[in-house]
Amino acid sequence: MASITKVWRHLLGVEGRAVVESWEFDELAESLVVHVRPYKRGRRRCGRCGRRCPSYDRGAGRRRWRSLDLGTVQSFLEAEAPRVRCRACGVVVAEVPWARPDSTFTRAFEEQCAWLAVHTSRTAVAALMRVAWRSVGRMIERVAGEQRQGVDRLADLRRIGIDELSYRKGQKYLTVVVDHDSGRLVWMAPGRDKATVERFFDDLGAERAAALELVSADGAAWIEGPAAERAPQAVRCMDPFHVVQWATDALDKVRRSVWNELRRGGGDPGLAAPLKGARWALWKNPEDLTSTQEATLSWVQHVNKPLYRAYMLKETLRTVFHERTAAGAHRRLEKWLAWACRCRLAPFVKLSKTVRAHRERIEAALTHRVSNALIEGKNTQLRLLHRVAHGFHDVNAFIGLAILKLGGLCPPLPGRS
Ligand SMILES: [Zn+2]
Repeated sequence: MASITKVWRHLLGVEGRAVVESWEFDELAESLVVHVRPYKRGRRRCGRCGRRCPSYDRGAGRRRWRSLDLGTVQSFLEAEAPRVRCRACGVVVAEVPWARPDSTFTRAFEEQCAWLAVHTSRTAVAALMRVAWRSVGRMIERVAGEQRQGVDRLADLRRIGIDELSYRKGQKYLTVVVDHDSGRLVWMAPGRDKATVERFFDDLGAERAAALELVSADGAAWIEGPAAERAPQAVRCMDPFHVVQWATDALDKVRRSVWNELRRGGGDPGLAAPLKGARWALWKNPEDLTSTQEATLSWVQHVNKPLYRAYMLKETLRTVFHERTAAGAHRRLEKWLAWACRCRLAPFVKLSKTVRAHRERIEAALTHRVSNALIEGKNTQLRLLHRVAHGFHDVNAFIGLAILKLGGLCPPLPGRS
């Protein structure tokens, strides 16, 4: 029969790493405190770099780390937390084999929280783990930091997309890099400027930058500049997502001006209210429309010809990127340009000029079959994720969560492989 301390070691996830000395159970509080000490080989290591160091002092005495619940009982590890003097890092608290530096939770506890944050809702994580959401943010930062060290996310990149993501109601920005081939988020950092894109290329290194075949973006100079300089051989193209976005914005301008005109009495004022409600039907892709929205759309077609024309212009531009062949797509774009520039809808006439100005990059996207869905999907996922990350104290916690979820770096649940 296995000894009880052996069972303890496995239950607490410290097998091979620590000795169980004793335990106390508080029946009232339903909590268990297990006293442990690291094996000799795991002692007197620097908490920052892991080097073996001479002892310094006892530090602040004994400390507790929250461990995974045992059944329904909250449990903690308790141990000495002495300090060591590291040659490189100075006087620091010694590493313990069951927890990450500066954490009051065990590794297994943090990994389970990170896994849950990736796979379930924030209220579920907080309730199940009995922990504040803010603390989960810090755990995610630590887990993601460690996961990132283990893998080279920038290896073998051929076709990438660089984009910006706004957060805090458009007050702040992040630069995001995705791999068109794996569909993964590979790099993300605060900032929306040349220096941030240059930092990505620094991380990538000259050799790997030289292996890039394609860089897609939204046509902004702060991306184009560094991309042309660091990876001159790569084809630079427009992300179709942005072109479709421009068309959606133009459609919205037409809808608003039509609505304002009706309201001011330029037409039938009884049409103004239902037209306002038509917004979603006009925005959606036709394949996603509900039957009510389909009806709204045919009503728009009937009562407001200019607005319906704007809708068709947006839809036609969108389907340019869905053409099966590059040649077909080029032809369709040509036709669209001819139509848009004489459509008598100011926002679309303007859009046709913008499209012409970016034509070379847009045609490159059509030729190289850059998917619209990928960047659009990532953008949507990141926006949803940012909502989940609301309440984290630091943008790095959001970046960590994004890397774990969309970068494919989520650790397995503790004890599973
Ligand atoms: Zn050190």
